[in-house]
Amino acid sequence: MQMDEAKRLREEQAAKGNPPCGHPQLVKEYYLGTQTGDKVCTTCGEDFSEQEWRAIGR
Ligand SMILES: [Zn+2]
Repeated sequence: MQMDEAKRLREEQAAKGNPPCGHPQLVKEYYLGTQTGDKVCTTCGEDFSEQEWRAIGR
C-alpha cells in the first residue's frame, strides 16, 4: 500500500472517532514504488515498523 493511501485511511479513521481496530491484515508500505520496511493495516492505516510487525508475528 502506498504511504499516502495509508495516510488517507488514518484520516478516515480519525473522522469516525478512531474506532478500535484489530488490524486484521497488514501489508507492506511503499513510498514512490520503494518499500519503506514498514507495514500498514489495510483497515485503519496504522503503520508498524519492522520491529513492531515482527514482534506481533505478522
Ligand atoms: Zn488497523
